[in-house]
Amino acid sequence: MDIHTPLSKIKLLNPEFPNKSTGIVNGQSSGLLNWNDIAYPQMYDLYQTLLSNFWKAQEINMQDDIKQWDQLSAVEKDVFLRINTQLASLDSLQTPTMYQVMDYVTDSSFKAIFAVISQQEAVHNESYSYILSSLVPLSEQNFRFNQAKSDPLVQKRNQLILVAYECFREDPTPQHLFQLGVNSINLEGIYFYAGFAFFYHLARQQKMLKTSTMISYIQRDEMQHAYFVAQFIRILLTENPELNTNANIEYVYQTIRQAVELEKEWAHAILTDIDGIDLQEYEHYTEYLANKRLRQLGLQNLYEERNNPMPWIHVFSDEMMNETKSDFFEQKSRTYSKVSQSNGFDEL
Ligand code: ZN
Ligand code: ZN
Repeated sequence: MDIHTPLSKIKLLNPEFPNKSTGIVNGQSSGLLNWNDIAYPQMYDLYQTLLSNFWKAQEINMQDDIKQWDQLSAVEKDVFLRINTQLASLDSLQTPTMYQVMDYVTDSSFKAIFAVISQQEAVHNESYSYILSSLVPLSEQNFRFNQAKSDPLVQKRNQLILVAYECFREDPTPQHLFQLGVNSINLEGIYFYAGFAFFYHLARQQKMLKTSTMISYIQRDEMQHAYFVAQFIRILLTENPELNTNANIEYVYQTIRQAVELEKEWAHAILTDIDGIDLQEYEHYTEYLANKRLRQLGLQNLYEERNNPMPWIHVFSDEMMNETKSDFFEQKSRTYSKVSQSNGFDEL
């Protein structure tokens, strides 16, 4: 395979090929999906986990937050609205990108997972709008979205992601798909966190708990997405050794390092007036996250190994998220785990 030759848009149906794809890209696949006959059976578990996380914004009643909003300081309100719209901007890129990848991935089980991720990104976007509509008028929302679009620091940090995403749109080669994956991990696994930290910081002061509940659901989704994309990249490199070069491994380290630097810079800009968030600690937190993403990719730590330096984010950590579906703030059990791990057919 030439990693610089564009992948062709896959035909919907190729009846002469098997249902189980012979490759994640450039494979032979009928286009039909039978989950019982897939190349990577663990993808079914991942798909189930994503579905069991299902949630929607409207199920969270914003009344308490609406009452508390006016008690926030002017600085807290400003940072709240800036972060909300900046995170919404990131999710806006993710919905069409995950969807677009489906046209070039030959394995139907991966297509299905990208479809679910794309749907979840749409929910994330809606939830930011839902929070905004509860708290401020449309004119203020528009002002904030324009602010997010024109902020030079936001532009600078989004540029890294955008370049990779646009490259794949214009020239969908395996190399560009690999680069898209790495940047997607940065977006979902590193870039959101200074924003999340702010909302959790409010939550630990018992402020705006409904917003933080939504943020915790978004975070849980993003962690699954970043994990899935890491698996996707590993499989892509294993199936296509031409991609598994020193230059590409170096690209991963370099790009994640850049994302870490940009995230630190953004954290300093956005959180500097917020009392109680130690920015030095947050820098370590970003490095801790980057190490985690690298290990998911089967690579080495880039930064000093340390435990979670922000233990108050710990309740929202990868481990806790997957252990419980309970609502961290209200201690109510959620009942969304409707799907079981097995498909149940064996018991019939
Ligand atoms: Zn998202
Ligand atoms: Zn995501």
